[in-house]
Amino acid sequence: MKIESVSTHACRLPPASPWEDATNKVDGLELIVVELKTDTGLVGTGLSYTVDIGGTVIKALIDDYLAALVIGMNPLDYERIWFKMSRQSRRLGLGVNSMAMAAIDIAVWDLIGKHSGQPLYQLLGGARETIPAYISEINLSATDTVDDLVRRAADYKAQGYRAVKIKIGKDDFGEDIERITRVQEVIGRDKRVLVDLNQKWTASEAIQKGARLDALNLGWIEEPMLYQDINGHAALKRAITTPIALGESLYSREQVLAYLQADAVDFVQADVAFVGGVTEWLKIAHLAQAFGRLVAPHFMMELSLHLLCGVQNSFMLENVVGGSLTELGLLAEPITVENGVGQPSQTPGHGMVFDWSAIARHALTSEGVRNRFSGGSK
Ligand SMILES: [Mg+2]
Repeated sequence: MKIESVSTHACRLPPASPWEDATNKVDGLELIVVELKTDTGLVGTGLSYTVDIGGTVIKALIDDYLAALVIGMNPLDYERIWFKMSRQSRRLGLGVNSMAMAAIDIAVWDLIGKHSGQPLYQLLGGARETIPAYISEINLSATDTVDDLVRRAADYKAQGYRAVKIKIGKDDFGEDIERITRVQEVIGRDKRVLVDLNQKWTASEAIQKGARLDALNLGWIEEPMLYQDINGHAALKRAITTPIALGESLYSREQVLAYLQADAVDFVQADVAFVGGVTEWLKIAHLAQAFGRLVAPHFMMELSLHLLCGVQNSFMLENVVGGSLTELGLLAEPITVENGVGQPSQTPGHGMVFDWSAIARHALTSEGVRNRFSGGSK
């Protein structure tokens, strides 16, 4: 089997519900979908994404450079393909190139599944058939009241979710405590509420406030401080009992390894689209396993479903409100979480079938973003 052509389709659209956390307000979600056509007639699809900024760069990197590298290669040689792309793009550092590589690598794994007649999760190890999901909120806007939040939490519970992640990081810490305790009245206190700071706190602030959160029996504290601060996270982990989750801002197994070696993380949240795809994500999951840590991948629900059912050391699936490809209207066949449980499709490959006309309707173009990009961050 040989890859004969690589084509990209990029789109930009707002999240299906407004997203605002302690440090960001999201204007547009940018998705870059890749099609790999082979000489066998099999077609693999993969995707990557970015929030607010950089989608046109990722698309151009694939179209202008990475496509030429992989055309003619056998998609079964996923390791060879990944390292070729990695070596050739090393001067770019980490980030944009691993996000571009991810779209191709995910399409490669889709082809491996289609070629062998196996769903992706079985190729990765087939550790389980289903995975519990938590619902994940991105709503910390000033106009959203605690009563609004509590109403939504009750709705999530009615949908079958047993765990909920909420954003905190208000300037008034008392408001954070109120958000947590009110949601716990609905969902329960036994590690069922997770909180996400999106890197809002300083290290000393995290130790001070984290100690107060210990009494609330949270499932985890996510990204409490700047992602570069490994020592700060290690100090926090020594100081508090609430587990620490992070990894959505890490781009390689080496960066994850540094956190593991420093004993600075409990739950590893590497995002398949940011770390270069399935090939690198699987290595990160195994690395975490060697350190006795569970994985809980960030976002990308439709793919994370397969990843979590593939490996042994899985925690929970994240289903972000307004962020599934089905909610965004980009899939021809819906993929949803039912009664708080995720189940990967049994069709060969990853099972995502894209709605190309919907992607075209929201096409991402240089002209489009150049004329209206104003930045999404607070
Ligand atoms: Mg997060």
